[in-house]
Amino acid sequence: MRAGSARVDRRLPTSIRKNDTVLVITGKERGKTGKVLRILTERGRVIIERLNMVKRSQKGRGPQQPGGVIEKEAAIDLSNVMIMCERCNAPARTGSRRLEDGTRVRVCRRCKEDIDR
Ligand SMILES: [Zn+2]
Repeated sequence: MRAGSARVDRRLPTSIRKNDTVLVITGKERGKTGKVLRILTERGRVIIERLNMVKRSQKGRGPQQPGGVIEKEAAIDLSNVMIMCERCNAPARTGSRRLEDGTRVRVCRRCKEDIDR
């Protein structure tokens, strides 16, 4: 029985989740780290805070939102980022382990510490 798992669990080939700190490993932002704001599951991409900024022109929507050029994060392919282990301060491969209550947590394969807190 999978009671209680309300959210859709598409098996992405990644363990990256929202609010993770990730390292970009390829592309123009290579070597930078940032926080995951959003994961675009269907497209296999992530939006990372202040990374891969692009300029977009936006139409004005009244006095509260004047038009102009805004900067916005563009999505980065999931295969181009790696999760950072705060303990190792390095990108990490993750495994998972089951807690006594049955929940899965991600662990860093290098230092064996939990990534989920
Ligand atoms: Zn680690």
